[in-house]
Amino acid sequence: MDKEKDIEKSPGWEKFAGKFHDKFKEIMAPYKNNVLETARIRRIVEKVPEFKNQEQWIYPSDHCKNHTNKGACWCALKKDAIFERISRGKFRVL
Ligand SMILES: [Zn+2]
Repeated sequence: MDKEKDIEKSPGWEKFAGKFHDKFKEIMAPYKNNVLETARIRRIVEKVPEFKNQEQWIYPSDHCKNHTNKGACWCALKKDAIFERISRGKFRVL
């Protein structure tokens, strides 16, 4: 199993993941080159007023250069991705 989460994703999920890409990238910029755990990223996301009550749509595993999953952001597997997946629950900020 290589899954970060078990949320049932509905059609159109891609629009959600992509919708938060720019802001997500912006808030992660100060952490560039750092390896962060999912829980740490979670806490960073939770502090952003724009993401309030939408945290469930924002996962690092949807924005990885070397990882994708059902309904990932358009940046998945591309050079514009926000993270590089190091191992389960660990991501390096690009
Ligand atoms: Zn993205």
